[in-house]
Amino acid sequence: MMSDWPNAIAHIDADCFYASCELTRRPELIGTPVCVLSSQDACIVAKTYDAKAAGIKTGMPVWEAKKLLPRATYIPADFRYYGLLSEKMFSILRRFSPDIEVYSIDEGFIDMNGLRLLWRKGYREIAHDIRQTVHNEVGITVSVGVSVTRTLAKMASEYNKPNGVTVVPGRMIDLFLARVSLGDVCGLGKNRLALLSKFRINTPTDFVNADLHLIQRLLGKTGSDLWHEMRGNSVMGLELTPSLPKSIARTASMGEVTCDRHTILAHLTRHTSRLATEMVLKGFLTQRVTVFIRQKDFRTVAGKIDFEYPTNNYFRISHAVKDMMQGLYQTDQEYRACGVVAERISRASESIPDLFGVMARDDKQASLFGTMAAINRRYGDGTLRVAGAHITRGIKSRPRFMYPMISAL
Ligand SMILES: [Mg+2]
Repeated sequence: MMSDWPNAIAHIDADCFYASCELTRRPELIGTPVCVLSSQDACIVAKTYDAKAAGIKTGMPVWEAKKLLPRATYIPADFRYYGLLSEKMFSILRRFSPDIEVYSIDEGFIDMNGLRLLWRKGYREIAHDIRQTVHNEVGITVSVGVSVTRTLAKMASEYNKPNGVTVVPGRMIDLFLARVSLGDVCGLGKNRLALLSKFRINTPTDFVNADLHLIQRLLGKTGSDLWHEMRGNSVMGLELTPSLPKSIARTASMGEVTCDRHTILAHLTRHTSRLATEMVLKGFLTQRVTVFIRQKDFRTVAGKIDFEYPTNNYFRISHAVKDMMQGLYQTDQEYRACGVVAERISRASESIPDLFGVMARDDKQASLFGTMAAINRRYGDGTLRVAGAHITRGIKSRPRFMYPMISAL
């Protein structure tokens, strides 16, 4: 039997992040259903648990949601604000450990090894401290999972959502696996689950008891990595200093077959916002973005966008993606999936000297979302304030909340 903590990794996952961000500035809405809309206000990109309970799903067209739940509050997405709260959340995580991986806008991993000595507390207490500190200082709830591998930590954070802490030491892995389902394992989508099911692998326990060679044959390296990780052998590790990837993709099935242009655009917008945010958080720029939409018959149409200069500006990318999608879309086709892929990736820190020239040319874009992180890192928080004054120029005249100044700690 394995020891309790041969390795310790925490996964921190904000609960319905976009919607929770909105509640921090609209506290009067706490306890009521709230839905966040894509930037064309076409579909739901996030919702509170109250809205979820009423049957609202991410990706649902707004008209459908409103029919289902007319009394909910519908708020247009404000990715700049979510980006600010995300940075604030990660600055808190860095207080607990220098070794963190920014996994997405609202999820991160922490290498917990050694922290018990440092904080003179057990992992459960440290996890509670993290949850409590984020709640006190950012105003959102997060769920924390702590275990011996990143796969188990991620499953653990999912186990007790929202606002929960789940700790799975080595000795408890079998008990834990008996209480979750295979669909909860990150990396096992519908198709893989169906394939496993043909071989009578229907539960996490079946999975870890299956022959490694079979898993490898069915799912390749992803499968064998998961098999080791779910048995408590850490093989995936954390990506502490992001290496320069060849590409970053954000793609998914739309969960339905649709010919509705707005629904596809809404999904692409969500992918684009997540892509841009990931690049901002990791300090990456892209000079080429490929947009693809997959038809009902699985044929894929794609188009490449080459930018004049490397960027991670959400509005700039999103605008180009929208244009490209309009060109790819055909009214007589039905579509099932879509996505965006960034290529020709470089580091923002290495292109700083050009930044202000770029911004001058780019001022019609009127947004600093994409460059905010780089500027702050390089020039300090005051720059964000100065730049922030330009943000509202050119943006729709919807009344906007004044962003609180958030300083990186
Ligand atoms: Mg989350």
